[in-house]
Amino acid sequence: MDISVVVPLYNEAESLPELESWIARVMEENGFSYEIIFVNDGSTDESWEVISRLKEHNPNVKGVCFRRNYGKSPALNTGFARAQGDVVITMDADLQDSPDEIPELFRMIKEEKYDLVSGWKQKRYDPLSKTIPTKLFNATARRVSGIHNLHDFNCGLKAYRNKVVKHIEVYGDMHRYIPYLAKNAGFNRIGEKIVHHQARKYGTTKFGLDRFVNGYLDLGTLWFTSRFGVKPMHFFGLLGSLMFFLGLIAVAVVGFGKLYNMHHGLPYILVTDSPYFYLSLTLMLLGSQLFLAGFIGELIVRNSDRRNEYEIEEEIGSFIPEK
Ligand code: UDP
Ligand code: MG
Repeated sequence: MDISVVVPLYNEAESLPELESWIARVMEENGFSYEIIFVNDGSTDESWEVISRLKEHNPNVKGVCFRRNYGKSPALNTGFARAQGDVVITMDADLQDSPDEIPELFRMIKEEKYDLVSGWKQKRYDPLSKTIPTKLFNATARRVSGIHNLHDFNCGLKAYRNKVVKHIEVYGDMHRYIPYLAKNAGFNRIGEKIVHHQARKYGTTKFGLDRFVNGYLDLGTLWFTSRFGVKPMHFFGLLGSLMFFLGLIAVAVVGFGKLYNMHHGLPYILVTDSPYFYLSLTLMLLGSQLFLAGFIGELIVRNSDRRNEYEIEEEIGSFIPEK
């Protein structure tokens, strides 16, 4: 099969028939073999009935229905697990992304050998309250992830080599950072294609302004786990030791300062009257707490069955012992 189109959706009943017939038209015009996987993320409208009806006249339509709403990432992950096409294309259900981009995306993966091609809505039809924070968000994401050539991390329209979607795990709200997840899994050929964007035709957006706060928090998590996921002590230990060491210096300043003055008959003050006393107290307490956090982190890693999970591209020779 050439292409799997994965469409996560939550209450998008009005858009679905139009989306399905548009995708089908593009596929037939280009002679692709395909499947459309609709992942109904616990919609409370009649989306699922619409999908069942679409399935009746188009056997390439497939559907998965969650019992409740989980979010876009779980929906994508579920679609990815089932996708059989050589190229997997994700698309929002709200008709903001155009199926006409599919042939070119397919070509970029197949011929230019990209692992992942992300859409870039260069000209957006969204309110300013969304486009400005998005710019900031993307600039941060580029810096943190080191993927400097992407303008639009969270574009719903993306294409992947099948292997990529089987080796990344999209959970929580991590759909915003799929290129970063792919990079962490060793897929380095990440490209971009300018895509047409349209204003939402039916329904309303499913994400509020909290998307930006959560987006930044998740970026922090990804950065941390990709760098220190299996060696938390390298982070907490360093920070903890540094603080503890500064605390020791502060102790030395108070302690030795006072002893010196006493010994030489100079005027001296109570230890608790010195600001260094409080500094040393805080630094040493926080330092040892961080150190402990590091140890606990290491204990967790030690018990995780993912601590020795690596992305293996190829192997040659046989590793099965001869009898
Ligand atoms: N979506 C989903 N589960 C959710 C929220 C959204 O499957 O909990 C789907 C939604 O139906 C749409 C896509 O994710 O197909 C993108 O959502 P939306 O268009 O609301 O986001 P925006 O375009 O405003 O970023
Ligand atoms: Mg949308």
